[in-house]
Amino acid sequence: MVRSPTAPSRRRLDLWAWWGVATLIVATVLVLLTALHSYSADRDATNAALTDLRVAVTTEDTVWHEPSAAEFTRARASVTSALGGIRAVSMDAAERDHLTTLVDTYQSAADREMAYLAAGDTSAASAYDLATLDGDYARLDTALRAAVDDQALLDQRATTVAYVASLGVVLAAAAVVAILVRAAATRGRRTAVLEIEASALAERERSFRLLFEGNPQPMWVTNPETDEILTVNEGVLALYGYTRSAFLALRTADLIAEDGDPPMLPPGGVGEGERSFASVRHRTRAGALLEVEITVHGAVFEGHRVHVVLAHDVTERLALQRELEHNAFHDTLTGLPNRALFTTLLEHAHLRLRGRPGACAVLVIDLDDFRTVNDSLGHDIGDQLLVAVSRRLAAAVRPGETAARVGGDEFAVLLEDLESEAEAVATADRLLAALREPHRVGTRLLTVRATIGIATSGERDSASDLVRNAHTARYAGKERGRDRHEVFRHSMHAAAVERLGLEQELREGLAREELILLYQPKVDTMSGRAVGVEALVRWLHPTRGMLSPDLFIPIAEQSSLILEVDAWVIARACHQAREWRDAAATPLSMAVNVSARHLEGGGLLELVRRSLDETGIDPGMLELEITEGAAVGQQEQALTTLRRLREGGVRIAIDDFGTGYSMLSRLQDFPVDTLKIDRSFVSKIVSATTEAPIVAATIAMARDLGLEVVAEGVETEAQRLYLARHGCDLLQGYLISPPVDPAQLTAMLGRPLLRSLVGA
Ligand code: C2E
Ligand code: MG
Ligand code: MG
Repeated sequence: MVRSPTAPSRRRLDLWAWWGVATLIVATVLVLLTALHSYSADRDATNAALTDLRVAVTTEDTVWHEPSAAEFTRARASVTSALGGIRAVSMDAAERDHLTTLVDTYQSAADREMAYLAAGDTSAASAYDLATLDGDYARLDTALRAAVDDQALLDQRATTVAYVASLGVVLAAAAVVAILVRAAATRGRRTAVLEIEASALAERERSFRLLFEGNPQPMWVTNPETDEILTVNEGVLALYGYTRSAFLALRTADLIAEDGDPPMLPPGGVGEGERSFASVRHRTRAGALLEVEITVHGAVFEGHRVHVVLAHDVTERLALQRELEHNAFHDTLTGLPNRALFTTLLEHAHLRLRGRPGACAVLVIDLDDFRTVNDSLGHDIGDQLLVAVSRRLAAAVRPGETAARVGGDEFAVLLEDLESEAEAVATADRLLAALREPHRVGTRLLTVRATIGIATSGERDSASDLVRNAHTARYAGKERGRDRHEVFRHSMHAAAVERLGLEQELREGLAREELILLYQPKVDTMSGRAVGVEALVRWLHPTRGMLSPDLFIPIAEQSSLILEVDAWVIARACHQAREWRDAAATPLSMAVNVSARHLEGGGLLELVRRSLDETGIDPGMLELEITEGAAVGQQEQALTTLRRLREGGVRIAIDDFGTGYSMLSRLQDFPVDTLKIDRSFVSKIVSATTEAPIVAATIAMARDLGLEVVAEGVETEAQRLYLARHGCDLLQGYLISPPVDPAQLTAMLGRPLLRSLVGA
């Protein structure tokens, strides 16, 4: 119930009003009684005096001419007594004293009359005094009239007093009525307030029920003492899967999962208007686990202290949160620990084993040519292969060893408590052997090769030094051939640092124009005549001499530097092509190698156009070589670039064909004019039984597709003959010429570089 805060002061006010009215009534009644008492006394006195006067007058009328001494004395006595009564009414004590003095002073009637006149006394008493003093009974009439006037005055005063008293009574009565009316009104209002309060309470309970029942938020009400469930809404039934009657038969403790704890509530329950929060694990009727956040409100419901429990299902949120936490430390694809977790574990192990050099080792495992798998078979297959590899690794590591995925195709294994470096090497061997077994991905069997870098902890190495060293060893392993492991040696570090230095030097070398182009001729297989050249870059390093592209192109490809190298090569090659065109009768086509980075990054179209415009050479004379590995992975945007180049007349060649995961199946759609069969096949066509048919088949298929076929790295006459027999169009290799400078090449032109097979 809501109490009005103004009620006490109003009641105090009413009390004061009652007191005021009561005092007023009592005062009025007292005044009235006093006035009535004094009036009746005066009236009695004057009545007696009048009677006496009337007797005196009557006596004067009847016996005045001859009054006896006794009659006169009696008359005088009655007049004197009347005088006293009259005086009592008309004069106050001072006046009476004054009059008595006067009367005694002036003994003659004339003197006394003068004195009365001088005093302004025209009362009946003075008139009567004069009458009796000088025996002039005519004055008695005057005295009688004065007495009657006095009595009238007395009556008038009494009437005034009565009026005043009546007014007082009326006012008091009005006040009483007003107070009664007000009291009634207050009582009415109080009743109304009570009624309103009651209806507000009912409304509150009604809206509570509405809010409770219709609320999708699961809620129930319990008895805090017994934990019994008193009422429950639909939301709870939907969440917990109970019927209403089944739920009402429970106590809240029955909901708690076997491994969950009851909510921590304040001792003695939650007080009215207070709240308490808790996280609990509940079970649904079907037995499913529910993670619930509950808010317990203390309330009074239908006159009883209750707990209103609001349940908030956070099962999904917590699951997501746990997943996120797991994901923060695990790789989502393979489920292996990720780089962050690996680093933490490594730091922990490193700290624990400090002071024991070689006790801890990091193996960094890099899959060879994984990008080609992704590019040729698609990312889905690539992902599945990664999962298969991670399973293989996880199965191959021993207890206490941790395998993690630390990059795209990069894994790492942490070894602890080692006795010697040989143990780490043995583990690497084991892992390589495990990975070599073909992996089943869908319907395919795929083989994977890996390179492992091994680093064991040194005395002064930090955990991150260990990882960096393992990477350096892996890098060195790749350079020395793949499918192997390499143990970190400090000399490797120096090589890595040197590689970094080389990038900076190349940047400067490019600006200082230290790059040059050599040209290797391509000849017609049958006639042996030069039909074109391939531009191959060299770096004339100021201190190291001429550097091969294999040394610096991979470094340039790791940064945007390759774009600058390619741009320089294209421009330079186009200029050279124009010189030869202008000098020779037979034009030479110019082939230029373009990095995959350039296709991805764009800008190639503009670059080629500019070079063609500047030199004015026929676009058909320019051929861009893209390695098979780079070509297969290209997105639509890069293919569009290639198509537009071709539409402009520029030729496209696929370099090192056969080294990638064969793009034979995609050749039909690919914008290409020429296939260059890789040197590794050509070198084996005469000696090996497998490579020769592959080359023959590739040539046949390429010709079917209307493509030109170039064989790279032709070193022997036997190779030439085999290629000629199978219809290969052009040859390139040391058999004809190594890459040479422009002057040397110019000198070669004009004569056949190989003897003609035509007609042979
Ligand atoms: P590539 O385009 O396949 O070039 C052919 C490579 O084989 C050249 O090596 C060449 O000297 C070598 N070669 C030619 N005939 C024979 C032979 O009969 N026997 C043997 N053993 N080797 C032969 P080079 O010039 O060292 O180039 C290596 C690779 O560097 C090139 O392979 C190409 O992929 C890349 N490259 C060369 N110049 C450039 C360039 O200007 N830009 C880009 N992006 N890459 C280039
Ligand atoms: Mg090439
Ligand atoms: Mg090649």
